[in-house]
Amino acid sequence: MHQQLLTTCKRIVVKIGSSLVASSDGGLHLDRIGRLTKELGELQSQNRELVIVSSGAIVAGISHLALTTYPQDLPLRQAAAAVGQSHLLWAYETAFKRSGHRIAQILLTHQDLGGRRRFLNARHTLTKLIQLQVIPIINENDTLSIDEIRFGDNDALAGQIAHLVDADLLVILSDVNGLYEADPHINPSAKLISLVPTITKRIENLAGASRTQASRGGMVTKIQAAKQAGRFGVPTLLLNGETPNALAEALDGNPSGTFFASKQSSLTNRKQWIAFTLRPKGEIMLDEGAVAALVLRGKSLLASGILEVKGRFLNGDPVSCTTKEGIMFAKGITNYSSEALERIKGKQTTEIQELLGALEYEEVIHRDNLALTP
Ligand code: GLU
Repeated sequence: MHQQLLTTCKRIVVKIGSSLVASSDGGLHLDRIGRLTKELGELQSQNRELVIVSSGAIVAGISHLALTTYPQDLPLRQAAAAVGQSHLLWAYETAFKRSGHRIAQILLTHQDLGGRRRFLNARHTLTKLIQLQVIPIINENDTLSIDEIRFGDNDALAGQIAHLVDADLLVILSDVNGLYEADPHINPSAKLISLVPTITKRIENLAGASRTQASRGGMVTKIQAAKQAGRFGVPTLLLNGETPNALAEALDGNPSGTFFASKQSSLTNRKQWIAFTLRPKGEIMLDEGAVAALVLRGKSLLASGILEVKGRFLNGDPVSCTTKEGIMFAKGITNYSSEALERIKGKQTTEIQELLGALEYEEVIHRDNLALTP
């Protein structure tokens, strides 16, 4: 089942851990970056859509500034991030250029995704970049982030990005093979868990604390990221980025790491977005029959059940649906503008055809684009 998802998924957020791309004593791992970008570039050329979340700025900065230890004080860490980020992106830019791929840098703080407007702004920009076949490379804006506004770690950031771009899959590449039944450093015969259907307390307990200083994450943050992505219907695959072609093989249906299934389908995910993220541009008031059809029978909205149209909106805009008492009970994306709805409200399909010359859509709001609101 999950093999099929891997072979068919299109939009993928790939998180690359610090330890894969840099070390504080050796600087950037240019060979590794070269190999990973080559593999990722091939996937992009095979029509997969990639969004990368890459760590490594701080570690690269530490090396570039010749600091001897991982800075404990925030300003020095932020300075290292500023130095390291340009270095890191230069490496990605150079490597991706070799295979003819273009990249873009996006630096985010938690605040950027907190409010709906900023969330949508970021979503629009990322969607546009994907359409332009540019590979966005995202990192936390470490230089500006202070403790309260940090994502905490790039695993959490990647979990948020998976939701932001409506990804089909989140891949976390790190220096571990996946989640084990026990700590493999202590018990070398511990078995790898290849499929986690649900993230239970037991699974969370299996995650030990971080082992390397290079990444602030560890298994705990990876599982939290998988949990978060799963909440929005995005499954997560944890893979060892040190293994050549691990991702390509996984996407061919032979995953080597741990796959965390997500409960909801992407349809549910989309409905959450409609219900909780979109801001309605207008309102459609429905008669009792239509309300019952939508709420009780799971039907699409037809023009015949519309009593009144409020506000000005275009087709494709989000609108709210209310009862005739004005109680909002659903949100959806309309196939008709407010102007067209004024003409066709309360009408049957045949009349609409005569009025508009053609019936472009049978439904005013298709069921797939409609979400009941609490
Ligand atoms: N944003 C940090 C960096 O690029 C890394 C955070 C993390 O390792 O999770 O260095």
